[in-house]
Amino acid sequence: MADAFDEECDYLFKAVLIGDSGVGKSNLLSRFAKDEFRLDSKPTIGVEFAYRNIKVGDKLIKAQIWDTAGQERFRAITSSYYRGALGALLVYDITMKSSYENVSKWLLELREFGGEDMVVVLVGNKCDLDQSREVEKEEGKGFAETEGLCFMETSALKNVNVEQVFLQMITRIYDITNHKNL
Ligand code: GDP
Repeated sequence: MADAFDEECDYLFKAVLIGDSGVGKSNLLSRFAKDEFRLDSKPTIGVEFAYRNIKVGDKLIKAQIWDTAGQERFRAITSSYYRGALGALLVYDITMKSSYENVSKWLLELREFGGEDMVVVLVGNKCDLDQSREVEKEEGKGFAETEGLCFMETSALKNVNVEQVFLQMITRIYDITNHKNL
């Protein structure tokens, strides 16, 4: 019997997760992809990816989301990671200032390898740890506005805004791609 993975879809989008090690990328992805979806891996380039089918209007979109699987630690992310990606979640940890300070560096890399048209959502993860907060929400939001990015705070642990952040990215990709086709 065909499962969600094999279901016919109207579009296939690739998107990537990026950001410092430990900010919660893998947890965001597994929360979004849930147990019923496959977590595949490409050991040759040291990344993992998961699929999830999503309805936007009457269209079925298969989102293929890539995760760095720890390779960002070694700066081993290469152009193949970004190739063909239409969107990115650029994640920092609201309790780790350094992860926020590195956002500009990740953004430069995203734009270099992924192009200027990529849909980028800046994500402040671990918002459940408000008592240890080192980055104010307004800082993240302000930076995102300046750079023309979407912005959201999430908690992979408490499942806050996880669905929403992926949906926001996928819907924007869909809108942009559709307009381009007109
Ligand atoms: P990655 O290296 O960016 O993929 O980060 P991981 O997903 O492996 O998470 C790093 C650590 O942060 C793990 O110990 C997670 O349990 C923890 N973590 C991830 N997301 C959250 C969150 O939203 N809230 C809290 N409190 N911890 C989180």
